[in-house]
Amino acid sequence: MVVSRFAPSPTGYLHLGNARTAIFSYLFARHHGGKFILRVEDTDRERSTKEFERMLLEDLTWLGIEWDEFYRQSDRFDVYKHYAEKLIESGHAYPCFCSVEELEEERKRAEEKGIPYRYSGKCRVLTKEEMERLKKEGKPYAVRFRVPDGRVVVFEDIIKGHIAINVDDFGDFVIVRSDGTPTYNFVVVVDDALMGVTHVIRGEDHIPNTPKQILIYEALGFPVPKFAHLPVILGEDRSKLSKRHGAVSVRNYREEGVVAEALLNYLCLLGWSPPEEGREVFSKEELIALFKLEDVNSSPAVFNRDKLLWLSGLYIREVLSLDRLVDEFIPFLNEAGYRAEKEYVRRVLEKTRDSFETLKCGVERLKPFFAEELEYSEEALMVLENESSARVLWLFLQMAQDVELSGERVKAIAKEIQKRLGLKAKDVWHALRASLTGELEGVGVDILCDILPKERVLSRLTKALNLVGFQQG
Ligand code: GLU
Repeated sequence: MVVSRFAPSPTGYLHLGNARTAIFSYLFARHHGGKFILRVEDTDRERSTKEFERMLLEDLTWLGIEWDEFYRQSDRFDVYKHYAEKLIESGHAYPCFCSVEELEEERKRAEEKGIPYRYSGKCRVLTKEEMERLKKEGKPYAVRFRVPDGRVVVFEDIIKGHIAINVDDFGDFVIVRSDGTPTYNFVVVVDDALMGVTHVIRGEDHIPNTPKQILIYEALGFPVPKFAHLPVILGEDRSKLSKRHGAVSVRNYREEGVVAEALLNYLCLLGWSPPEEGREVFSKEELIALFKLEDVNSSPAVFNRDKLLWLSGLYIREVLSLDRLVDEFIPFLNEAGYRAEKEYVRRVLEKTRDSFETLKCGVERLKPFFAEELEYSEEALMVLENESSARVLWLFLQMAQDVELSGERVKAIAKEIQKRLGLKAKDVWHALRASLTGELEGVGVDILCDILPKERVLSRLTKALNLVGFQQG
């Protein structure tokens, strides 16, 4: 059975690049009817927090990623300890008593000579007796993995192809620090092996770690899984996508009101080439059916925020069911301080869902449907102060008294007013729009009148009229 996993460190918000890794790993497992594991890698006790872990799980769930098994490395220290001892027993690892100062000294010397630093191997040759003596003296020690001499580790990466790395330069690396905490390269192997992971899918920044891990697999007698390293995601300027490029976490986009399905869909397009060229919209089920690691490009993908927003708009407009859209929209509405009946929101969105790309922008744009009190923009106030505006509003109020104010009717009334007052269409519409929305741009006045209860239309017009101090006659 295929088993893949996502192994985030809870040291920050879920970055878009990591989210894409999670998605690809998840799609891969589902495509093969396999198992998908979520493993929180929190061995770095200083930088990991429970709060980041909680948000991580929340963001993954929001994206639609479900895991079959869950592990947390900090719950598994006993397991790692057991395997570290095993490696020492078999001679693949050894305790290293070198102090921080000694190691610093070594590093400095290498620097002076201008050669890349690697551990001297001083404790490699300690006899059993010396080891026991130092342990008895209570000298703290790390555990180092004994890197074989003259070895070139080779693996076939599913995405990157043939990779061969000479491990001579690595030096014997630490697998358990002197404070007893195990290191990433070691625990990742123990976990992946014990959890039965068949495919390790992760970012290409881990390629240099892979040979170390393969050596540990071999030393522990575990089968080596297949590796697939995903190329990085770049910003528009072709440097690695980072905070400098603005919003780069899933949470940022979630808070902006990008639709989850659209973000999932977009992230898949970053580096994966669908079999059907040119097609861009895929449901999660379709992605599961179509996704192949072999179709992931080996060169980096460039993140394009506009394209993501465009796709989000497309989902809002055409892909989501109206019910889903309403459910997604209401929390944003409430967040902005507005309350409305679900049925009312539904009627509004049915007519306006083609006019915004994120839920947050939607709330901003659709304010006139929900606000009790309008705020007027400066431009709107200027329009209202035109002498003709007062006359338009006054006449409109007269003509609107006894009729139902449908969008069509409003258009007819506007036309009539234009004729009677000898104005341009623009003057009439600007006056109406400024009074009803507080802006000169945005939602259509006819759509607004169709949905907003008539008494609110009239009270807005009256209020605007009062605002400019219209004197009848
Ligand atoms: N915790 C590592 C990371 O977040 C996981 C790497 C891996 O998948 O092996 O980069």
